[in-house]
Amino acid sequence: MEDEVKQTILIVDDERTNFLALNKILSPDYAISLAKSGTLALELAQEIKPDLILLDIMMPDMNGFEVLAKLKNTEITAHIPVIFVSGLESEQDEEKGFLLGAVDYIKKPFRGTIVKARVNTHLQILRQMRIIENHSLTDPLTGLPNRRRFDAHIRSEWRRSIRDKTPISFLMMDIDNFKIYNDTYGHPQGDKLLQAAAQIFMSAIQRPDDLAARLGGEEFGLLLPDTDLEGALLIAEKIRVAMEENRIPTVNGNRVTTATLSIGAVSMLPGVKDTIPEFLTLADNNLYTAKRTGRNRICSGEK
Ligand code: GH3
Ligand code: MG
Ligand code: MG
Repeated sequence: MEDEVKQTILIVDDERTNFLALNKILSPDYAISLAKSGTLALELAQEIKPDLILLDIMMPDMNGFEVLAKLKNTEITAHIPVIFVSGLESEQDEEKGFLLGAVDYIKKPFRGTIVKARVNTHLQILRQMRIIENHSLTDPLTGLPNRRRFDAHIRSEWRRSIRDKTPISFLMMDIDNFKIYNDTYGHPQGDKLLQAAAQIFMSAIQRPDDLAARLGGEEFGLLLPDTDLEGALLIAEKIRVAMEENRIPTVNGNRVTTATLSIGAVSMLPGVKDTIPEFLTLADNNLYTAKRTGRNRICSGEK
């Protein structure tokens, strides 16, 4: 865990002594933020999106139960795990906390080692969940996002594009004569080519919302939000040339191989009536045209 960024905990407590005690126990391992009221806690939770929240219940402006209910009602904070740390000792209060969606309930006065153990457990679960989630969204061969991650990403970018009235572009890319390449050099070498192609796609994208994904066997997609056709074609050409010029050594290292790819490009200013499948089909049709007219080229449907 040493070389990772520290996980963040938001402590919500109106009493300084409580905060100091929790801070002392947890700050060696975690990055700690403090909110002294419920209102501040809600603001801060949205801003820093902590990995975990330790929440007091008895506070002057808004009690912890209300804070939790509001966190759960806000999309970006709804999934942050919350542990109540409270002086309320009754089982009814504890039950209420769990019913509202808290993951744990620690009673004051607390013992440092127990607080720490419980916090560690919840944050470890969170880390493991993120690893699993990341695996389920990544293609193991190339390390690129897979189809699932692509589908989720295009859905949110598509909505944003409609809302902001910005163009969105997509490149559908397929390696040329890959069957022959596999047959000539063997399947492991084919895998190497796919990895080399993935590197080229990764290097071609610059913005944080651009996404290169492996959509199927040897088909890749590049989503370019807020990019018009002209911009998309520049990137497509950069990729086409990089692929054409790339020399990939054979697995046994005594030869170099080359490969090319074909690209179907599409750009749209989507309206509410347009659909993602239609958009992707346009790119697919353009890819087909690129294949039919000689490969190693980009088609966008424009003459
Ligand atoms: P075209 O230029 O028309 O695209 O011809 P092509 O030979 O590339 O045709 P096609 O796209 O149908 O070929 C798909 C090939 O990709 C067949 C399959 O064996 C190969 N393939 C798919 N996934 C993998 C993989 O993970 N590793 C390797 N080595 N090959 C793969
Ligand atoms: Mg192919
Ligand atoms: Mg194919």
